[in-house]
Amino acid sequence: MIQKVETLIIGAGVIGSSTAMHLARLGMTGIHVIDLDLEGTLSSSELNAGGVRATWVQPINIEMSKITIDYFSEVAQEVGYKPCGYLWLHPAERWARAVAAREVQAKMGWPVEVWDVAQLRSRIPFLDKTDGIAGALFAPRDGLINPNLLKKHYRELARSSGVEFVDRTVLRECRYDAGSGTLVHATCERFEKVMSHETKLEIAASELPHLGRSKVEYRAQRVINCAGPWAFRVARILGYKTPAHPVRRQVCIFDGRDVDLTAYGMIVDTSGVYFHPEAMNGLAGFANHDEPAGINFEYDGERFFEERIWPALYERSTAFERLKHVTGWAGLYEVSPDECGIMGEVQDRVFEAHSFSGHGVMHSYAAGLALAEEIIFGRSKTVDISQLSGKRFEAGQLIRENLVI
Ligand SMILES: Cc1cc2nc3c(=O)[nH]c(=O)nc-3n(C[C@H](O)[C@H](O)[C@H](O)COP(=O)(O)OP(=O)(O)OC[C@H]3O[C@@H](n4cnc5c(N)ncnc54)[C@H](O)[C@@H]3O)c2cc1C
Repeated sequence: MIQKVETLIIGAGVIGSSTAMHLARLGMTGIHVIDLDLEGTLSSSELNAGGVRATWVQPINIEMSKITIDYFSEVAQEVGYKPCGYLWLHPAERWARAVAAREVQAKMGWPVEVWDVAQLRSRIPFLDKTDGIAGALFAPRDGLINPNLLKKHYRELARSSGVEFVDRTVLRECRYDAGSGTLVHATCERFEKVMSHETKLEIAASELPHLGRSKVEYRAQRVINCAGPWAFRVARILGYKTPAHPVRRQVCIFDGRDVDLTAYGMIVDTSGVYFHPEAMNGLAGFANHDEPAGINFEYDGERFFEERIWPALYERSTAFERLKHVTGWAGLYEVSPDECGIMGEVQDRVFEAHSFSGHGVMHSYAAGLALAEEIIFGRSKTVDISQLSGKRFEAGQLIRENLVI
C-alpha cells in the first residue's frame, strides 16, 4: 500500500500531536502522524510527573513555558491545569544563582516570590525541618497538568482540522528522491493486532528492522522526527545523527499518612527530590544523574523509594516519618547534551522536535507552534527557535540549562 501525504510525523506524543495540530490550524492538509502505540503506554507523555513551570535559567526555556502555560490557562478545564505553584527550596551554594534566575523570570513577566526560612515555615507549616535551606522561591503560576488530557486535547483539535493519527505503525526505513522534486520515501511496519505490553517493550527496545509484518509505504513532502526518547534511532533511519539519548527516570506514589498534600503544588527539595499531591497520595521523583543512557523501563520498586526518596523527605518533615511506598514506574527522559530541546530543520525536507530533557510537556504548545511556523513561513514568528537547532552542538553553541530536575 502506498500512501501519499504532505507531511509525515513520526511520534504522536505531546510534541508530535501539538505540531500536527498547529500545522493543520495554519492551513496545511495531508498530515499523517504515525506511532507504534497511540495509547502511548511507554511514551514519556504518558509516564511523566505532570509539572509545568516557567522557572528556568535560560530565556528561551522561560519563553517556551510561558507561552505554553498561558495557553493551558485558557483551556484549564480540558487539560486539568492547576496553578498551584512550584516551591523550590535552595541550599546556600545555589541560592545566589537561583535569585539571579528569578530576576530574569520576573523581567519576562513570570512572578516569583522570595521567601526566607521564617516565611517558609509559616506558609508551609509541615516543612518543619529546615536545615540546609538558605531560602525558597515560590512561583504561583507554575503548577500541575493532566498530560493525558493534554495529549487528547491536541489530538482532538488536530483531528478536527483533518490530521490522521495512524496506530501500530513504526518507521523502519527512509530514502529520498534526488533533485528538485525531492520526495521522502518512508517504509513502515504495521502491526495488525493489538499488542501486549511485552511486545511493545520488545519493539521499543529493538534496533533491527522487522519488516516481516505488513508494510506501508509513504511518499511525503517532508518528515518530522517527534519520536521523543527514540529520536536518536529515528534520526539514524532518516539519515542524520543527533547527540540525543534516552535515560531512565523513576517516580513513585507514596501514602502520606500524616500529611495532606492536596493544598500544595510541586515542591522541589534541596536534595533534588520533588513531590506533589497525586489524588489522595503523593507523587515523588528523583533524577539519578549516574543513570546510564539507554532504554530501560525497569522500576526498582520499594528500593527506589527507600534509597532515593524517603531519606530526603524524612530529613525535611516530621510528618514524613511514616511515609509508605504504594507503587511507581520508570519512564524515559529524552536528553540532549545541554538539556534543552532540539528543534528545527535538519536538512531539506527533514525536521525535528525532541529531546526536551524532562520539560517537553511544559514546552509542548510553544514547541509545536514554533516548528509549524518555521515549516509554513520559513521562520518561527511566535518565539525564535533558531538557538534550539541541532546544529548548535557541532558549532559548540550549547545553551546550558541548569535548573533541570
Ligand atoms: C519520569 C518522568 C517525569 C517527567 N516529568 C515531567 C514534568 O513534570 N513536566 C514536563 O514538562 N515533562 C516531564 N517529563 C518529560 C516529558 O514527559 C517529555 O519531555 C515529553 O513527554 C516528550 O514528549 P514527546 O512527544 O517528545 O515524546 P513521547 O511522548 O515519548 O512520544 C514519542 C512517541 O514516538 C513514538 N515512536 C518512537 N519511535 C517510533 C518509530 N520508529 N515509529 C513510530 N513511532 C515511534 C513512540 O511510540 C512515542 O509514542 C518527564 C518524563 C519522565 C520520564
